[in-house]
Amino acid sequence: MQLSKRSLYRMPWSMNDNPIGWLETTDKCNIHCLGCYRLQIAGHKPLEQIKEELRFFKEWRNCYNISIAGGEPLMHPDIVEIIRYIDELGMKPLLLTNGRALTREVLVEMKRVGLLGVAFHVDKMQQRQPEWNHKTEVELNELRQYYVDMVHDVGGLYCNTGMTVYQSNVHEIPEVVRWGNRNIDRVHGMVFITFRAAPVDLGIEYVTPDGAHVDAGELSYSAGQGVMEDTGLTSEDVWRTIRTEFPHYDASAYLGGTANHASIKWLLGVQAGVKGAMYGSIGARTMELSQVYYHWAHGTYLTYARNNKLGFGSVLLGLVDPEVRAAFKARLGDVLRHPGRLFQPIYLQSIGIIQAPDIMPDGRADMCDSCPDMTVYEGNLINSCRMDEWRLFGSFLTPQMATDISLPDESNIPEIEEETLIPVP
Ligand code: SF4
Repeated sequence: MQLSKRSLYRMPWSMNDNPIGWLETTDKCNIHCLGCYRLQIAGHKPLEQIKEELRFFKEWRNCYNISIAGGEPLMHPDIVEIIRYIDELGMKPLLLTNGRALTREVLVEMKRVGLLGVAFHVDKMQQRQPEWNHKTEVELNELRQYYVDMVHDVGGLYCNTGMTVYQSNVHEIPEVVRWGNRNIDRVHGMVFITFRAAPVDLGIEYVTPDGAHVDAGELSYSAGQGVMEDTGLTSEDVWRTIRTEFPHYDASAYLGGTANHASIKWLLGVQAGVKGAMYGSIGARTMELSQVYYHWAHGTYLTYARNNKLGFGSVLLGLVDPEVRAAFKARLGDVLRHPGRLFQPIYLQSIGIIQAPDIMPDGRADMCDSCPDMTVYEGNLINSCRMDEWRLFGSFLTPQMATDISLPDESNIPEIEEETLIPVP
């Protein structure tokens, strides 16, 4: 089973016309994740700086939504005002949180000032409250359920869950997808991000553009041999893991890499179903139409929508999209077997798979083409996953093979007897 870029729609996003802007509010956090990209060195950003960065996004990025990230953004004392200001600027605020500090009261208050929704990051490589440590992903579905039920209960909000994918939990993805499908009325999407780390102490060293050698071990995403064994999964591996168990699922759009023409950095799919039955996934044509139409009608590309119910007019998409036709056929067969489902709404549920930066054999980093998670750092847009290289060293780092590999002492090299030398023709 193989993915082909030819059958996928390439998202039309770019540096200056990208539906997502990534706002870093704080680097403080109340839990610890193995896959975290951020060091805790600066604390909360002042509100005025945050507002300036939001105006920067408005001017240079043409965002549909602002992903409010950190650190843990709920720890920022001005989180409600930040959400209100994003809404005032005409962008949609999405809170990215580990959920630990979330209460119903805070959620209601954030909704009141314009919150679009919440994305919960939960996986088993997090150190959170003792009762949730050392759990399997299947057991953590209970925690995911607690959070999505809270969002559903407040109502009118978008909700997704995300997890970092390691070699040690990839086999549990189907159970998370199964849980998401069971909750299709309240889980708008699931995101799986493959674990990446910068290898250190493995014969690799890091240099700045002016040739200075630095200690990359200071970065939160540096790792030695033990942790590196948990890296290496690709978006296609995750896609195959899901597709093998769920034939109704398929991807329909992608973003490639900046250095490797073959890599798929963002792989996006949207499933359709009701509570109790999944019918199929939308195809590349629907994905293309939705992006182009939304941009034409609203001036930005689209990412997260509050409404996850399929309208009746979507039947028409079957005229141009064979995947949608197949999904409606499956729906018809299901309704004939279970007439009670006729009046159930059909929901959409996205699956996003992200393959974070890879180091190419020649030392170049293969980043996400048109990186949707660019953030503002000192007046420039940079990839948020590598912002700490700028914070610590003032630039991106380039890995290279270590130069201090010691050569054997010449006096220890045995002399070669002349007759053993092979004459060069
Ligand atoms: S390159 Fe951009 S989109 Fe890709 S992992 Fe890094 S920040 Fe996220």
